[in-house]
Amino acid sequence: MRIAILTSEAVPFVKTGGLADVSGALPKALGEHETDARLILPLYDQIDRRLLNDKIIENVSVEWRGRVHAVRFLCSDAAGAPAYFVHAPEFFARPNIYGCQDDHIRFAFFSRAALALTKHLDWQPDVVHGNDWPCGFAVAELRARRRYDSFFQNTKTLFSLHNVGYQGLFDAGDLWWLGFGDAPERDDFMLERTASALKAGMIAADALSTVSPRYAREIQTPQQGHGLDWLLRARSNRLIGITNGVDYEIWNPETDPHIAANFSADDLSGKRECKIDLLRRFSLPEESDRPILAIISRLVGQKGYDLIQLVAEPILRTGAFFIALGAGAKEYEDFLQRLHDVAPQQVGIYKGYAGEPLAHQIEAGADMFLMPSRYEPCGLNQMYSMRYGTVPVVRATGGLDDTVQQFDPRTGTGTGFKFGPYEAGALLEKLREALYFYARPDDWPKIQRNGMTVDNSWAAAAKKYLELYQELAKL
Ligand code: ADP
Repeated sequence: MRIAILTSEAVPFVKTGGLADVSGALPKALGEHETDARLILPLYDQIDRRLLNDKIIENVSVEWRGRVHAVRFLCSDAAGAPAYFVHAPEFFARPNIYGCQDDHIRFAFFSRAALALTKHLDWQPDVVHGNDWPCGFAVAELRARRRYDSFFQNTKTLFSLHNVGYQGLFDAGDLWWLGFGDAPERDDFMLERTASALKAGMIAADALSTVSPRYAREIQTPQQGHGLDWLLRARSNRLIGITNGVDYEIWNPETDPHIAANFSADDLSGKRECKIDLLRRFSLPEESDRPILAIISRLVGQKGYDLIQLVAEPILRTGAFFIALGAGAKEYEDFLQRLHDVAPQQVGIYKGYAGEPLAHQIEAGADMFLMPSRYEPCGLNQMYSMRYGTVPVVRATGGLDDTVQQFDPRTGTGTGFKFGPYEAGALLEKLREALYFYARPDDWPKIQRNGMTVDNSWAAAAKKYLELYQELAKL
C-alpha cells in the first residue's frame, strides 16, 4: 500500500504545533505495517539542512500558471520514512512558515508540486493523505485529475482536519490563476464571498478524518463548526475521529535526553530533580515542595488565555509557581510579561518558540499542566504531561475530554482534573481541587501513576489509519 502524506510541518524538520508531531509520527508507525508511506513537505529555510541526505531529484515538471517549471526536490530519512521537500525558495524561503499574504499561493504550489513528484517517481499512491488547509488544494486537484489523468485514476484521498478554525481563506479572484477555474463555477471553494482551501478539500476528499472522536462530533455543531458544520454533517458518514498517538520514542521520561534525571512510574524520584532544574532555568526559588503549574501553547484565543488572564491573581494567591512557554499574540505575550513583572519570584515565562528541549523540561519538572482550551481538536501536551507524571487540568472539550479522565478519590481512578463550562470560575475551582489533592500524599502519586501508565502510543492510531486507507483503496 502506497501512501503519500502531504503536510506543511513534521517533526523532526519543522514544527509550530501538534500537526508536526502527528505528521512525523504517523509514517514511522505505519512502517510497522509493511506500508510504503512517504512524506512530502515544503523546503522552508527553517529546516536544518543537516537532516537531509545526498539524494536530489531534479527536473520534476510542475505546471504552474500556464508554464511547465522544472522543480527540484531534496530528500531525507530522518523521520524514519522517506521524506521529500519541494525546493521553491520564492515561496518557502521566508522568515515565517505561515502568516504571509500569499500563503494560499505558496501552498497551492506545494500541493501541485507534491502530486507532480509522485508522477515523476512513477510511484502511484493508493492514497494521498492531505493534512489541513494547505493540502486542501491537492485533495481538490486530485479529484479533478482522476477524470483525465490515468496515473491518478485509482488514487483515493483522505483529508485530515487537525483544526477546522484555520480555513485557508483567500480572495476568490485568485482561483483562476491558481488553476482552479472561475469563482462561480468553483462553488466547492466558496465560503460566503471568499475562497477556502479547507472547504474545497472537505468536499473533494473520499474520506475525512479528524483527531479525536469528540472533536469529530463537535465540528458538526454550529457552535464549533466554524461555519462548516453543515458540510461536516452532510459528510458525516465519511468522517471519522482518530485520536492522535504519542511518539514514546521522543516523549518518554525513562529515556528523555533533554531532562535533568530520568524517572518512571515505578520510581518517581528523578522528577524532583527535574523540578529543581526547571525552577533554576526560570530563576525561581528552589522550593521543591511548592507546586508548579505549567502551560505550553501557542498564544491564541483557542488555548484559553482569556480565562487564564481572569484567574491569574487568584492563582498567584495560592502560592503555586506558574511557568508559561508560548509564542503568538502580542496581547498574551504582554500579559505574561506583566504577570512576571508583578511576581518575578513566582512566575517564569519564555515568550517565543523554544524548540523541543525546554518543552520536555517543563513537562518533566512541573506538577500540573494547564489546558483550559476553548476548543481542542486533540491536544498532545495533556498526553505528554500524563506520561511525565504531570497532572493535567483541562477543559472537557474535544480530545482533552477523550484523553483525560477526572480523578475520583473514592475509587482512586482518573488521570487529571476536568472542568466543563468555559468560565473563569470553573477553571479556578478545578485548579483548587487539583491543588487540594496535590497536598495529599496518598492521592497525588496515585493520580500521577494512573496517567503515566495510560497507553496512548501510535500503534492503535496507526492501525486505524491503515484500516481507513485499506477501505479507501477498495472504493
Ligand atoms: P496545537 O497543535 O494546537 O498547537 P498541541 O497540544 O496539539 O496544540 O501541540 C502543541 C505542540 O507544540 C506540543 O508538542 C508543544 O510542546 C509544542 N509547542 C507549542 N508551543 C511551543 C513553544 N512556544 N515552544 C516549544 N514548543 C511548543
